[in-house]
Amino acid sequence: MMADRTEFGVARTVCDCRACIANCRFMAGSLIPADLHRISEYLNEPELTRFAFDNLLASPGAIIFTRGRLIRIRTLVPARRVDGACRFLTAGDRCSIHAVSPFSCSHFGCSQSREEADALSLRGLMEVAKAWQQGELYARLWLMLYHAGRIAPSPVEARARMRAVLAAGEYDGDGHSTSERR
Ligand code: SF4
Ligand code: SF4
Repeated sequence: MMADRTEFGVARTVCDCRACIANCRFMAGSLIPADLHRISEYLNEPELTRFAFDNLLASPGAIIFTRGRLIRIRTLVPARRVDGACRFLTAGDRCSIHAVSPFSCSHFGCSQSREEADALSLRGLMEVAKAWQQGELYARLWLMLYHAGRIAPSPVEARARMRAVLAAGEYDGDGHSTSERR
């Protein structure tokens, strides 16, 4: 357990309640570049291409407003089970990679203000944007998955689906704010 894990100077979230599972069922959290090696090592899969094919999808990602224009930042996210849930969600509704869960899962929670969460989310997305600008592994894996048709559902559609299910009372969890999930 990496209880002292930090990203961008922020300690990981340590709370643990059932409500969070709504996110895992509908909107698996996105990875930052540092997550790639961390998760692949945890899964004992040093070959990153194989790791990506087996465990990740190319997500349309997030649209942010910066320097006077809208830009899209494409992200890697966990692959999905046949029911749409994150592939790392166990049958017992636990995260099988909790110690190394993706940044968008590990560093956000109910105790944060909207402003804090947005700022931290943006910091992670900037790291992803830098990987794209520099043609790093993160970007190359995204393109490989995309061209192989391993594409995640749109976050907008996934969020709408989650809200509809929650509103219909078809799920017993509440889910915390999900704007950080791309
Ligand atoms: S990686 Fe873990 S915490 Fe993140 S969505 Fe998947 S099951 Fe949930
Ligand atoms: S972030 Fe909120 S919903 Fe998720 S485990 Fe913590 S308290 Fe529960």
